Amino acid sequence: MTPEPERLSVLLPHRLGLLTYRAAEGVRPGDVVAVPLGGRTVVGVVWDEPPDETIADARLRPVAGRVGDIAIGADLRRFVDFVAHYTMTPPGAILRMVLRAPDALVPPKPLKALALSGTAPERSTGPREKVLAALADGPLTRKALLEASGASTAVVTGLLKAGVLEETRLAEVPPPRPDPQHRPPHLSPAQEDAADALKAMVGAGFSTVLLEGVTGSGKTEVYLEAIAAALAAGRQALVLMPEIALTPMVTARLSERFGVVPGEWHSGRTPAARTALWRDVATGRADIVVGARSALFLPFDRLGLIVVDEEHDPSFKQEDGVIYHARDMAIVRAKEADVPVVLASATPSVETRLNAESGRYRHLMLGTRHGGLALPDIRAVDLRATPPPRGEWLSPPVRQAVADTLKAGEQALLFLNRRGYAPLTVCRRCGHRFHCPNCSASLVEHRLRGRLVCHHCGHEEPRPRVCPSCGGEDTLAPCGPGVERVEEEVRALWPEARATVLSSDLAGGPQALVDALGRVARGEVDIVIGTQLVAKGYTFPRLQLVAVVDADLGLENGDPRAAERTFQMLTQVTGRAGRVTAGGRALLQTHAPDHPVIRAMVRGDGEAFYAEETLMRRDGGLPPFHRLAAVIVSAAEKAEAHAHAAALARTAPTGEVEVLGPAEAPLAVLRGRYRYRLLVRAPRRIMLQPILADWLAAVPVEGTVRRAVDIDPQSF
Ligand code: ADP
Ligand code: ZN
Repeated sequence: MTPEPERLSVLLPHRLGLLTYRAAEGVRPGDVVAVPLGGRTVVGVVWDEPPDETIADARLRPVAGRVGDIAIGADLRRFVDFVAHYTMTPPGAILRMVLRAPDALVPPKPLKALALSGTAPERSTGPREKVLAALADGPLTRKALLEASGASTAVVTGLLKAGVLEETRLAEVPPPRPDPQHRPPHLSPAQEDAADALKAMVGAGFSTVLLEGVTGSGKTEVYLEAIAAALAAGRQALVLMPEIALTPMVTARLSERFGVVPGEWHSGRTPAARTALWRDVATGRADIVVGARSALFLPFDRLGLIVVDEEHDPSFKQEDGVIYHARDMAIVRAKEADVPVVLASATPSVETRLNAESGRYRHLMLGTRHGGLALPDIRAVDLRATPPPRGEWLSPPVRQAVADTLKAGEQALLFLNRRGYAPLTVCRRCGHRFHCPNCSASLVEHRLRGRLVCHHCGHEEPRPRVCPSCGGEDTLAPCGPGVERVEEEVRALWPEARATVLSSDLAGGPQALVDALGRVARGEVDIVIGTQLVAKGYTFPRLQLVAVVDADLGLENGDPRAAERTFQMLTQVTGRAGRVTAGGRALLQTHAPDHPVIRAMVRGDGEAFYAEETLMRRDGGLPPFHRLAAVIVSAAEKAEAHAHAAALARTAPTGEVEVLGPAEAPLAVLRGRYRYRLLVRAPRRIMLQPILADWLAAVPVEGTVRRAVDIDPQSF
C-alpha cells in the first residue's frame, strides 16, 4: 500500500491558484476543502498537480477539512486545466466558474414541518378538523398546512401547544425521473437513420458528430432520441443553447418527450434555483440540463451526452472575462468525459463543416423538411428598382406580400436585426450626432422609453427635445430604421392587424418575452417585427411570410466572417416560414442583389456558398487553415494603450508566427477604455499559447494598461 501523501495541492477559485498544504486524513483529489489563507479560511479543491516539495515542513499549513459531500470529478478537473491552458487564464479563474453555487456543496437542511403526534384533541371544532384532515396523509410545512386547511395561525399554534401536532422535518422527495419511453416520436426514415447512428454512439466513448439538416428537418426530434438513449443507459445529458431566449422552447420539447421538466441553467435563474440544480447535477438527480455556455462547467455526476444546438451561433463565444468558445470547449468536455457530442445546425460554421468533410467528425444529414414540406421560396427585392417611400422602410413588393398574407389569414415576420427606433440621431440644422461618452458608438434612440441608449455599455440618457449643440427646436431627426420604427410603419399601413415587436429589450423582461412568443405561436399575432431573437429555433405554425428589411446589414463591415454570418442569419430567419404548412416564402430587401450571399440565398445553394467561403479562408490564410489569436490592449488614455501595443509589436515573435498590427480594435473605445488589437497568425501545426506566453511575459503591464488574449477570435 502506498502511504498517504503528506502534502497536497489545493486549487483556489481565484487568481492565486495552486497552493501546497499539509494533507488531512482521507482527503483526496477532487474533494472540496477548507484551507487557511492568511488569517482567513477559504474553499478550494484538492488538485492533481504535484505539491511543492521545496516548502519547509514547518511553514506548511494543514488542510482544515472537507466542505460538504461533493467532489469535483477527474474529468472536470482535466477540463478546467485544459480551458485554463487553452485560453491562457489562471486555472483558479476557471475553477471559479465550476464553484458557482457554493451553498450547493452541503446538503440542504430538510424543511421544518408539522405532523400529527397521535394525541387526539380535547375539543373538536370545524377548523381543527380541517387541520387534522390536511395532515392525515403526512407532514406539511406550516405554510402548506395553512393553505390546505384554511385554518388560522392561531388554530395551528393552539393544536401544537395542546400536543396534538408536533414539529418534524420534511423527508425529501426525490425528483421524478424522465422516462425515455414517455412519448416516443414517429420518425421519418431519414430521421430514423440519423437517430440510430446517434444512439449507437451513446455509451461508445468520445466522438463528435455534426447533425446537419435544413431548417425544420427535425434535428431536434433526432437528438431527443440520442438523449433518450443516454437516459436509458442511466446517464445525464446536457443541451447547450446559444441564447436564454431559446431555452423555454427546448425545455418544452424535452418535457413533452420525457414527461419531466429538465433543469435550466443560465443567468436568468434565481440563485436558489441555481444552487438546487448545481447540487442535483452533482448528485446525479438531475438527468437533463438545458443551459447556456456556463453549463459546461457543471459538475455532472455521470455525463453521457452533450448536444450543442445551433452550433454555428456566435453567441457561443464568451467575450467577457474568460474568453472562450462554448462549442469548442463542449468538444473538449465531451472528450474528457469520454462521451459523444452532437453539433446541430442548419448552417454549420465553416470550421465544423470542414471537420465533418475531412472525417474528423461524423456527418449526419437530414436533407428535407419533415413531412416533405418545401423550403420557403426566397426572392430578392432590389431596393434600387422598387424603393420604399422616402423615410419609410418597406418596399412596394414587401407591402403587397404582407397584404396578401394578412388576407389569407396567415402570419408575417418582418426581420430587422436592430433594436430600438433609430440607430442614429442627427440634428438637421447643425449636424450634431449623439455618441456614447464611453464607447465609440452612436446612441440608439428607443422611442418607447424616450431614451438614447448605448448598445455596448448600457449608457442611457433622455432624448432631448432641443439640440444640445445648436439649441435648435425639433431639429433632431432619427436616421435609419430600428424595429420600433418599422412597427410604426406597420401600424400606419395595417391599423387593423395585430402587430408586435419581439426583441431582447421588450418591456417586462424574460417572462414578457416568453408570453409574447406564446401569443405568436398560437397565432394571436398577425405581424411580428423581430430582431435576431426570433430568427432561430422557433416553430410558429401560422408563419408563412418572412421579409428581411435590410439583408445587407452586416455585409458592409470588413470582417471576412461577415458573409458567413449573414448567410447563416438569413437562412435561419427565412427558415421560420412555412414550417408546418406548405407555401412559405421570403423576401430579402437589398441594394446588392448580386452579392454572393444574396445569390446563394435566392438559389438555395448553400453548397456553392460554403465552397467559395472555404477557398477564401484558405487563400486568405484564415482559420481553420491557420491559427489566429488576438491580443487586445486597453488603457484609460489612448496614447498609453497605443504605446503598450507598439512595444508588443516591436518584440513580436517572428518566423512562422506573424503579428499584424497594432490597429484600433473593432470597437476602438469601450466603456471608457481605448483599445488596440494585435492579430497573431501561425500555421495550424504550431501551438500559439506557449509562444504568446513568452512574448507577453517580456512586456510587463503597467499603469492603467490591461491585456486580454482571445484565442480563435470571431472577427478577423
Ligand atoms: P429543426 O430542429 O431541424 O429545425 P424540428 O425538430 O424543430 O426541426 O422540427 C420542425 C417541426 O417539425 C417541429 O414542429 C416538429 O415538431 C416537427 N417534426 C419534426 N419531426 C417530426 C416527427 N418525426 N413527427 C412529428 N413532427 C415532427
Ligand atoms: Zn457605451
